[in-house]
Amino acid sequence: MASVPWSTQLANNLAERKAAGRYRKPRIRLGEQGVDVVVDGKKYLSFCSNDYLGLAEHPALKKAFIDGVEQEGVGSGAAHLLTGHSRYHQQLEEALADFTGQQRVLLFSSGYQANMGIIDGLMARGDLIIQDKLNHASLLDGGRLSAANQLRYRHADITALAMRLQQSEQANNRLVVSDGVFSMDGDLAPLPEIMSLAKTYNTAVLIDDAHGFGVLGVKGRGSAEHFQIKQTNLPIEMGTFGKAFGTAGAFVAADEVVIETLIQQARTYVYTTAQPPAIAAATLASLKLVQDENWRREKLTALIQQFRTGAKDLGLALMPSMTAIQPIVIGDEKQAIKIGQALEDKGLLVGVIRPPTVPEGSARLRITLSANHNEQQVTQLLNALAVVCVA
Ligand SMILES: *Cc1c(COP(=O)(O)O)cnc(C)c1O
Repeated sequence: MASVPWSTQLANNLAERKAAGRYRKPRIRLGEQGVDVVVDGKKYLSFCSNDYLGLAEHPALKKAFIDGVEQEGVGSGAAHLLTGHSRYHQQLEEALADFTGQQRVLLFSSGYQANMGIIDGLMARGDLIIQDKLNHASLLDGGRLSAANQLRYRHADITALAMRLQQSEQANNRLVVSDGVFSMDGDLAPLPEIMSLAKTYNTAVLIDDAHGFGVLGVKGRGSAEHFQIKQTNLPIEMGTFGKAFGTAGAFVAADEVVIETLIQQARTYVYTTAQPPAIAAATLASLKLVQDENWRREKLTALIQQFRTGAKDLGLALMPSMTAIQPIVIGDEKQAIKIGQALEDKGLLVGVIRPPTVPEGSARLRITLSANHNEQQVTQLLNALAVVCVA
């Protein structure tokens, strides 16, 4: 068997990681994603998927997907700019432009690729990218890929952002980048304040609303709807389909010039195979449910309220999150793993998130709620937390 010449070094690193409680490995799920999952052969009540609206296993999505396969086959067979762009892709782009109220939409095969492509495609040498410290890895990596300079500012700190803008007037073009909903904290970016600073300093704004689209706003139009940002003042919006939409892939919504530029220059758009047409067909079905079924958001909101009230009564330290992401910071990673294991022993699955995904000393349980949970299940989680966290 071939091994790399620095194999011993790698093995040592792995051992160190294990000793520090940071070793990670995928587990095998059997059957559909959902509230009840079978992982490594055992049944769990799950509070760790990003399927916030419970659409990943929805019959309408399955049917649209299967019909899509019947019509268009499985693989798209080429990049969008060759022959990979199917009618479903086109329909989905148009439907999302309507949904977001933006001029144009461009699809990407994943959110990670979208962020890399948008940032690298828009920013050049002499430009400056200004990012929230807690932004998703794919945004930070987009900045690293680009020839532009990159600065970070303290998490959601509008004064810190203003300072960065004041001190960087010499840059050619500037792009402020933020998660709309922060993926490991669940809190919201101060979008109105960011948009207002952007106006003052003549900068563009990119909002990654992977955890906002579908969930925030009365119609699920994400952070911009939640904060009632005027249509004339929308940021460049990026969204993913792997979370609330229950499918896969991603999009960016912006004006004509930005989208046409990305079609020419976003390398992760140009040099990759278009996602399977049937996935776009399923996402079209999902977009309809997202828009029509307000009850999913209302139910989710009620469950979030129930969880927060219950957790507060237990004396658990909640984070300032009104979203489906409700983390409980434990601090020490080994302690977090222990608590995660104790919950598993009770048949409950939550995310145990450790550095480097989150800052040092802030290992946490990442609890996520879904419209498919019910009140009794949230009570069951709270009862278990009362035993394993409060002891
Ligand atoms: C999940 C996520 C992404 C990546 O999207 P994928 O489609 O899973 O690649 C990007 N940004 C944020 C904030 C995310 O949570």
